[in-house]
Amino acid sequence: MKARPPVFQKFRDVQAELDRSGAALFRDAQGVESLIIRYPYSITYIHSYAEDSPFFLGLAEGRLRGSHCTKKGCGFVYATPRGHCMVCGDPTEWVDLPKKGRVHSWTTCHFGSEAFLKETPYNLALVEFEGAGSLLLVRLKDAQEKDLYVGMPVEARFEPNPKYSVTDVWFVPAK
Ligand SMILES: [Zn+2]
Repeated sequence: MKARPPVFQKFRDVQAELDRSGAALFRDAQGVESLIIRYPYSITYIHSYAEDSPFFLGLAEGRLRGSHCTKKGCGFVYATPRGHCMVCGDPTEWVDLPKKGRVHSWTTCHFGSEAFLKETPYNLALVEFEGAGSLLLVRLKDAQEKDLYVGMPVEARFEPNPKYSVTDVWFVPAK
């Protein structure tokens, strides 16, 4: 009978064990053990960003784009762009957001999808911008969990070799 895989409490250690043997047990803070395995998985996905395209094209140009409602008397600004206004239903237009904002809330992720595995654990923040009525969910790098606080000034960084993906933007503490 095969022995139980070794138990780890840090996902980083689980990843190292998966590289070694392909199986590990992760024990969470409540003592629940999850068996985690590694197996090859590959897919080529053809995806159209359709009306979201200007957002990703903007990231590649170092621009953070939101949208704003065009209706007089509404003008709601979305930091997470939307094609139509959630307040009044009118179509929106693209706008450039400030590259600086403040942390509205955050969480530290100890699991990540494939694109973020190398940087796990990582921080996800909801960033608020001057003049915008909604928030942007984005990674917050170069900051320890213990140093984060609500209202912390942060600024955008852009991938110099863009992949036209959400990984093309992240925030860091503002200088
Ligand atoms: Zn509106």
